[in-house]
Amino acid sequence: MKTVKILSFVFFLAFGAVQVQAQRIVIPDLKEYKTLQCDFHIHTVFSDGTVWPTVRIDEAYREGLDAISITEHIYPVTSRRVYLQEIESQSNLSLKGISHNISYELAKPLAKERNIILIRGSEITCNTSPWHSNAIFLDNSDELDKPEWMDSFRAAKAQNAFFFWNHPGREKDQPDTTLWWPEHTRLLQEGMMQGIEVVNGGSQGYSADAHRWALEKKLTFLGNSDIHAPMPPFAPGQHRVMTLVFAKERTAEAIHEALRERRTAIYYEDFIIGEETYLKQLFESTLEWKIDKTDDGVLVTVRNKSDLTFRLKKTGSDARLVYFRNTAIIPFTIVPNSERSFTVRLNDGITGGDINFSVENFMVEPNKGMRYSVKIN
Ligand code: ZN
Repeated sequence: MKTVKILSFVFFLAFGAVQVQAQRIVIPDLKEYKTLQCDFHIHTVFSDGTVWPTVRIDEAYREGLDAISITEHIYPVTSRRVYLQEIESQSNLSLKGISHNISYELAKPLAKERNIILIRGSEITCNTSPWHSNAIFLDNSDELDKPEWMDSFRAAKAQNAFFFWNHPGREKDQPDTTLWWPEHTRLLQEGMMQGIEVVNGGSQGYSADAHRWALEKKLTFLGNSDIHAPMPPFAPGQHRVMTLVFAKERTAEAIHEALRERRTAIYYEDFIIGEETYLKQLFESTLEWKIDKTDDGVLVTVRNKSDLTFRLKKTGSDARLVYFRNTAIIPFTIVPNSERSFTVRLNDGITGGDINFSVENFMVEPNKGMRYSVKIN
C-alpha cells in the first residue's frame, strides 16, 4: 500500500508536474490593463498541421498562455484545388465534407477545463493577392466557405470578426519585394483588415515592411506562431512568438475590444515590438529605479521584476553627465529577474540632469529602439 502511494507520488512528480504552468513568462500588467499572452494563428490536422486540436490546448497550458485561436485554412474556390491537392497528397486524407468548426469544437472542452480562452477563427487562404488573412471571433466558420474570397470576408464580417493580414512578407507569395496589393486597399477600406502580422513564427519571421504598414495605416500589431508541427519544448526564458494583449480583463470580449483598439505588442525572442505608448507603459511597470547620491555623482540601481531583457544604449545628453561610456557597441543589458547598478558622474559642479538612452530591443520603428530618460536631481 505504502509503495503504491510512493509510486503514485513519484508518478505525480514525473508526469503530473508536466501539466502545471511551469513556463509562463512573467510579463507585468500595465497600470490599467492586464497583459495577456496570446497566439492567434495555429494549425492542426484539420488543415495542414500535424497535431490533434487538443494538443494545442496542452501546449498553451504548458506555456501558461491566456488565449489561442486555431485557424485552419479555408480555401475559396480559386485557390481550393491547389491547396486541397497539396494537403490530400501529403496526408492521404480527404477533408471534404468535414465542418470548418471541427478544431474549435474538439478543443473547446479541454480549453474550458484548463482555463484557456479559445477563440474561434479561420484562415481565409488565397494563392494570389490578398494571400492569407485570419478572421477570428467567428460564430460559425462554415459560413466562410464561399466560391469567391470576397464573399468569405463578407461572411466573416457579418459575424463581427477581427481580421488581420498574415505573414505579408512570406517569400513563397512575394519573392522579391513585399508589395501592398490593390486587394489590401479594398479590404482596409471595407474594414476587413484591422491588423497585420509583423512577426510570424513560420514562414516570415519579422517583416520591416509589415512593421511600417502597421504604423502608417494604424493596424493592430500581431505576432503569432503559425505553428503546424508540435510546439517544441522551450528552455527557461525561451518562448513562442506571441501577441501581448493589454485587456481590461481576462475574457474573450476584452481581448476583442483590445485588438480593435490596437492595444497590443509583439513578444519575439527578446524583442518587444509595438506602439511606443504601450512599450513605455510596459517598461515603466517592469523596472524599478533607485538613485543614491555618492561623493562625485549618483549610483543608479535598476531592478527588473520580469522575464524580459532590456538592452540600453546611451543617446545624446549633457556631456557633464558621464554614464554608459561603453554602450555604443555592447549595450548595458539588464537580464530577467536581476538588479544592476551603474554610476553617473556629475562634472563641473552640476547637481542633476537627464540620463538619456534607447532601449534597443523595444522596437518602435524598424531598427529603432524606444527613447527614454531618467531624471536625476
Ligand atoms: Zn496559417
